[in-house]
Amino acid sequence: MSCELCGRESRGCRAGVIDGVKMMLCPDCMRHGEGVKDVAPTPTGVKRAVFQRIRRSPPKDVYKGMEKGLVTNWSDVIKEARKKKGLSREELGFKIEERTVTISKVENGDLRPSDKMIAKLEKELGISLLEKVKEVATTHHSSAGLTLGDFIKHE
Ligand SMILES: [Zn+2]
Repeated sequence: MSCELCGRESRGCRAGVIDGVKMMLCPDCMRHGEGVKDVAPTPTGVKRAVFQRIRRSPPKDVYKGMEKGLVTNWSDVIKEARKKKGLSREELGFKIEERTVTISKVENGDLRPSDKMIAKLEKELGISLLEKVKEVATTHHSSAGLTLGDFIKHE
């Protein structure tokens, strides 16, 4: 018998209820819910939802690491820098341990270089491919200290 919540194999699995969903629970998971005698089959989807609610990891901060963005003309920057150094795509690929086809794709703008590749390109070519992402201009229309009260008073 395996626990329907954590999937662990356990002899101690018993019918239990978590958030109103009946399932087989190991002693560990039983602590989240309460034991019952009869277990009616529950749709897997419901069980999964409970499972996710209990064991969900905190949401990833999607904005993390986005303070810096790739410059918009990165493909040109890389190509120009490589030519300046007098390197062929093969030679550059050899230096930064990337395949020539990868270099070509990146220079054509077909492939966004990985963060790792960006770091290697910057180091090898002496260029900067990352720029600070501009903050969205906030539109604070502060009317130089004038409040609605001022307008009323002067009218
Ligand atoms: Zn369990």
